[in-house]
Order: sequence, then C-alpha cells, then structure tokens
Amino acid sequence: RVHAPGTPEYETGAAVFAGPGTPEAVVRPSSAAEVADAVRAAVAAGTPIAVKSGGHGSDPVTGGVVIDLADLSTVEPAGDGSRLVHVGAGARWGDVASALAPHGLVVTSGDTLDVGVGGLALGGGIGWLARTHGLTIDIVREVELVTAAGDVLTVNADSHPDLFWALRGGGGNFGVVTRFTFEAAPVDGLVGGHVHFDQSDVRAVVRAWRDVFRDAPDELNSTLLVMPQLMPEMPAGPQMSVALVGTEDELRRLLEPLLSLPSVTDVSLGPVAYADLLEEGPPGKPPFQFVGGNGFVPDLSDAALDSFVRALDREVPTMLLLRALGGAFSRVPADATAIAQRDGQALLAVNGILPDDASDDQVAAARAGAAEAVAFTNGRYSNFTPEFGDDVAEIYPPATLERLRAVKRAVDPGDVFRASHHIAP
Ligand SMILES: Cc1cc2nc3c(=O)[nH]c(=O)nc-3n(C[C@H](O)[C@H](O)[C@H](O)COP(=O)(O)OP(=O)(O)OC[C@H]3O[C@@H](n4cnc5c(N)ncnc54)[C@H](O)[C@@H]3O)c2cc1C
Repeated sequence: RVHAPGTPEYETGAAVFAGPGTPEAVVRPSSAAEVADAVRAAVAAGTPIAVKSGGHGSDPVTGGVVIDLADLSTVEPAGDGSRLVHVGAGARWGDVASALAPHGLVVTSGDTLDVGVGGLALGGGIGWLARTHGLTIDIVREVELVTAAGDVLTVNADSHPDLFWALRGGGGNFGVVTRFTFEAAPVDGLVGGHVHFDQSDVRAVVRAWRDVFRDAPDELNSTLLVMPQLMPEMPAGPQMSVALVGTEDELRRLLEPLLSLPSVTDVSLGPVAYADLLEEGPPGKPPFQFVGGNGFVPDLSDAALDSFVRALDREVPTMLLLRALGGAFSRVPADATAIAQRDGQALLAVNGILPDDASDDQVAAARAGAAEAVAFTNGRYSNFTPEFGDDVAEIYPPATLERLRAVKRAVDPGDVFRASHHIAP
C-alpha cells in the first residue's frame, strides 16, 4: 500500500512528533516481505528512504519515501515457556506494557507511552527499570532485519553476530528492523511514585540523591528532574521519580536521607503497576527548544554535582535531568553492545529552554551554560541527541565508531539508511 498526499495514511505516516513532513509517498507495509519490496523499489528508483516507527526521534522529512511501520505492531509472547516476546517495530511502548501486564512480564523501555519501539530499542532505551534490567538493547535476543539489498535476515548472537552487536545502540543505520525479540522479566511487587522539593537547597537534594544511589540495590531506580519556573502556576524545584521492585517500607528506608530533607514538599509513594508508571507525553514538540547537552557521567563527584547545580543559575531558564544508572546497566561488558559507557553512574541532561525563534547569541549562551556540566560526561546518549546528525563522534567512543562503520560497510555500502544519527560507511 503506497499512499499519496491527501490520504489519511499519508498524513499520519508523514507526521512525526516534531511536525508534519512532505515525503513523495508513504508506504505502509504489513510484513517483512512487503518492507523488502518497498526497499528494493526505492533503491532501484534512487528515492531516499526514511523509516518511521513511533516518530519521536526524527525530523519531518522532505521528499523521498517514508516506510511507516504502524501496521507491524503486534506484541506476542513466544508461548514456549520462555520469557521471550516478539514485538513489531511499529508498536508503542504503552502497547507493549499493557499487552504484557496480564502475563506479569515487563520489557524495560522508556518512560513515555507513545514513544516507538523501533527508534528507542535501536538507540538504547533508558527507562524506569534501567538499574534492575539494564537498557532495552540489553534484553534484545533477536532482530528481523530488511537490508538495503532487500534481504530479510534473522540476526542474533549466532547469526550475523557483528550486525547484532551494531543493532544494539547503533540506531537505524543498517536496515529496517521489522521485529524484535526481547527477553522480558517478571515483575512482582513494584512500588514507586514521586517526591517534590522546594528550591531552597537544590544542591542538598542532588547530593543526597547521589548518596542514596552509591549503595542502592539494583532494584531501586530513579530520575531527578529540576525544572525552571516557566509559568507562575507551575511549581519549580526538584522532582524525583522512583520505582523499586520491593516493598513500600523498603523504599521509604532506602530514600530516608532524601525524605528527611527540610525542602520536601510532597511525597506520594505506593504500590504501582509497571504500565501505570509510563506517562502520556506531549502530543507534539512543545513550542520551544532545548539547547545544551547530555551524556553518561562516570563519577558523580562533588565537583560534578556542583557544576550541574551551577548550570541552573544561568540567565537562560535551564533544566537539569539525572537518571540513575549503575546496577544491571553497568554489569554489561563495554564491548557487548554499541553503548560502551557502562561505567555510567547517571545520565545527565542540562538544557536551556529557549523559544523556537531564539537568536544565535541566545543559543550560543545556552550551549555555553551547559558546557561545564557536560564536561563531566564521557559521551552522549544518541536517543537524547537528535540534533547531532552526522556528528556521531560525540556519541560513540573511537573504537565503537570504527566497528560500527565496518558493519555499515558490510551491510549497507551504498548508504541507503541515513538514520537520525548517521554512521557513514
Ligand atoms: C516525549 C519523549 C520521551 C522520550 N522518553 C525516552 C525515555 O524515557 N527513554 C529513552 O531512552 N528515550 C526516550 N526518548 C527518546 C527516544 O528513545 C528516541 O526519540 C527514539 O528515537 C524514538 O523512537 P521512535 O521509534 O518513536 O522514533 P522514530 O522517529 O520513528 O525513529 C527514530 C529513528 O530511528 C530509526 N528507526 C526507527 N525505527 C526503525 C526501524 N524499525 N528500523 C530501522 N530504523 C529505525 C530511524 O533512523 C528513525 O529516524 C523520548 C523521546 C520523546 C520525544
């Protein structure tokens, strides 16, 4: 099915989170064989291909053909007594969570219902259970891939092992993934919620958060977000989200150094279902831009934390995000996947929030304001760095990038798949 401008399938397929696109056509295949037909036809015609799963990680395209995977979105437990689950790349993470809930299983992913399986699971996947089960790429066991030559490959640790390595963190540079097989985990006894703090002592909150995670069990997960006051009705100050595979008493005991801080304003913790932890994201890109940086932080030293907090004191309203890593994330060997920074204790994002029409000077000031904090990181997280385009050396350490390029040369020498983070052959 090829959809031309003016049809509902075209409008849906051409639109991404960042806005509407204007491709020549949208193709909506319903099998890997149909994806292969589309790839062969586009390659033969010299037409650029964009691949869309959930549309949350790409810019709207102009021209070319969009392969929209919306009809490849089933979630099927293997049903062979294992915990393997086959998931179509066009599914959304909210669908995966609710389909697996009756089976008592969870596939660790991001924190937002509407984000697509394909983009997140090719780039990393840092979510609610990252310390307990690792990244989404860490639980991929097999991938069905359509190559630039139009072949349908089954890729796993034994079959095309180099390609399997590259598909876990290297993004959409190697072909169209039609299906992932994940090893889900049983989730029993999940507790979590939110704790809010006022702005009186952000440094104390950030330090206490770090101290809690120095000795925390893998079962404890958290994100700490400090937002500037953008609107009068919006409370500013740190907000902590937490999830523990355990009991509420245990959670409160582990969080005691944070819960006893005088700046706590609100605590809401209790039993929660994994599917309910995932949140509705904004319907589209908000009318402002985030300018700054992100990266994996190997050492949450006092100096690093102080620089993160200093970044909030800039003239540009700035947000700070810290996602706890370590735990299962850090037990994966550095060369096992294309995300090598396994010494990361946290993922940092520091961004000035600017209007879309901000001047070059404002953008430069926001970038400079984040630079001191970002200097404490050792590589960006590709899924949080859509603006980097070809600048993948900021994302991958040199040895990882060289290995990715070698796989690219082998599987896509003609550079048909130019992913959001483009690894050139
Ligand atoms: C609101 C929001 C919340 C987010 N929350 C999180 C989070 O909690 N954790 C996290 O880790 N990330 C998060 N992200 C980042 C997210 O992981 C990336 O934006 C990711 O690329 C989105 O995947 P997608 O399938 O929706 O995007 P798409 O735009 O469909 O895909 C992004 C790129 O990936 C490639 N691609 C996608 N599908 C395929 C495929 N099947 N085969 C080959 N290539 C493909 C293409 O190059 C495409 O351009 C969030 C992003 C947003 C906007």
